Amino acid sequence: MVKLDKISYSVWDYSIQDYDGHITIIQLKDRLVFIDSGKEPITARKVRLEVEKLTNLPVKQLILTHQHWDHVFGNQAFEDCDIISSKATLDDMKSYLMTYWTDENLNKMREEEPEDYADLKIVFPNIIFEKEYQIKDENISIKIFQGDGHSAGSCYVFIPEEKILITGDLLFCKMTPFFGDPNADIYTWLDVYRQMLELSPEIIIPGHGEITDQSEIQNQIDYFERCIAWMTKYIEDGFLKENLDERDDFPLIKAMNIEGFDELVKSSIRRTFDVVEERIK
Ligand SMILES: [Zn+2]
Repeated sequence: MVKLDKISYSVWDYSIQDYDGHITIIQLKDRLVFIDSGKEPITARKVRLEVEKLTNLPVKQLILTHQHWDHVFGNQAFEDCDIISSKATLDDMKSYLMTYWTDENLNKMREEEPEDYADLKIVFPNIIFEKEYQIKDENISIKIFQGDGHSAGSCYVFIPEEKILITGDLLFCKMTPFFGDPNADIYTWLDVYRQMLELSPEIIIPGHGEITDQSEIQNQIDYFERCIAWMTKYIEDGFLKENLDERDDFPLIKAMNIEGFDELVKSSIRRTFDVVEERIK
């Protein structure tokens, strides 16, 4: 059963229960635009069928906010569409074939979770931009901004006519964000939060967690500032990166509902060490 929520005149959202993710759909006059495809093709296909039925419009474009698997493994449900991403997102996706998405790892997924991944294949974006991209018709404009921060090339999407911001993983609502990507940078990410606030969004669809408003951006700014303060003191007190696991007082919010979250947190803390050390040395 696919339950779509109508968020505004032009925006639909599908909340993914098991990891609090989102697939967002924007309705233009003559077509639909998806934002992110989720973590498995079967769900993406179901959501696509449902919204095409509800609106009697075809999907023509898929925007990828970024390259992490839980946002792009549904891409094959949109092979007949234009798939749009930043150049850095495409570059990382290609490099993942040699690291995270090797034949061996993908075959393991196909075998261990056949109901979700039996036919999994990696589908790359075919429309690439740097910094900004826009899709519009006479009613609304869909503005895509590259912010980085969460990953190289991470983007957020704003619809000014409806004051809706779709953040991808540049916002996790009421939970500890993932900032352990090898290119994550919480200083850059703080700049992104300030850019988002300047847009004065009224409704925010985060990468994970419940739909929210600007107050959650401020919460996450406060959170990253606490992380930076903690790590600055840790480094200035002379502690080393390899001893981070011995500490259990790094600031955290609620755990995200996803397998292996503890490892994600550890990688976020280690990455924070690197970016803070680089900044203060
Ligand atoms: Zn992500």
